[in-house]
Amino acid sequence: DPMTTSGVRENGLIKISGVKSYVINCTVADFTAVAGTMENKPAIFIVGKGAKGLIPEKPLVTMGYDGLLVSGLTLHECRINEGDVLGPFKDKSTFDKLKMWENQIIIGGSLGMMKASFESAKSYAKTHRSGGKPIIAYQEVAFKLAEMLTLFQTSQLFAYRAAWAAEAESRESEVLTCCAKVFCTEAAEKVSGSALQILSGEGYISGNAAERAYRCAKYGQIAGTSTEISRVKIGDAAIGA
Ligand SMILES: Cc1cc2nc3c(=O)[nH]c(=O)nc-3n(C[C@H](O)[C@H](O)[C@H](O)COP(=O)(O)OP(=O)(O)OC[C@H]3O[C@@H](n4cnc5c(N)ncnc54)[C@H](O)[C@@H]3O)c2cc1C
Repeated sequence: DPMTTSGVRENGLIKISGVKSYVINCTVADFTAVAGTMENKPAIFIVGKGAKGLIPEKPLVTMGYDGLLVSGLTLHECRINEGDVLGPFKDKSTFDKLKMWENQIIIGGSLGMMKASFESAKSYAKTHRSGGKPIIAYQEVAFKLAEMLTLFQTSQLFAYRAAWAAEAESRESEVLTCCAKVFCTEAAEKVSGSALQILSGEGYISGNAAERAYRCAKYGQIAGTSTEISRVKIGDAAIGA
């Protein structure tokens, strides 16, 4: 729970303590934004690299997103200036908004995975021959490509609608973003999985776009507002809770 990290005033500085399980690039970034509480209200602490008491762990080995460094992070009585605190905010709405934009970014990533997987599978299906013809000539392969393109195009439209609603600060934007995130991140897993099926043996070997997308796709369903919590929020909105 991010809110177990807390900051207290001490001798003109803010002293922060807490533990984070997964933090992207905290071993290399110049600054890390740490969510927590101060005076029992939500706050964000901006901590510079190398600050005393900021203890990043060794990067973890992840299933996907190979370029990212993900580590645990401990803050042990880490001190920062008061000017490096965003907040404390009166309620959770700032965090909710940040989470919504994080979800939008994850949606964008899913679109990229679908596009790269689709293009890779399409090009392979046109050029790879089996049984004397390019495999795209087999309906089972062409139908997979059709399904992939349909999912990708639908996801793209949904993503644009959610982004437009967020930009326009529509009241619907949080729930629309949850809907789009569930749809696009699940579609990314399906599309990259179908691409791998078309690429078959070649797809199973590391180093192609579909294989990378398939490994990364799950992250989108876990990170930000998880698929399960998104569905709870969508359900609550549907019944007007
Ligand atoms: C590679 C990677 C990088 C990350 N980077 C960062 C980062 O830089 N900064 C950061 O803050 N976080 C980061 N995270 C954390 C990420 O946001 C969390 O993993 C995610 O929010 C899920 O939390 P959890 O892993 O603790 O799972 P849990 O919250 O323990 O959830 C476990 C399961 O239970 C379900 N569940 C939990 N609560 C509910 C509920 N109320 N209703 C229904 N279902 C529920 C979840 O959906 C999930 O299926 C990263 C995670 C990964 C994997």
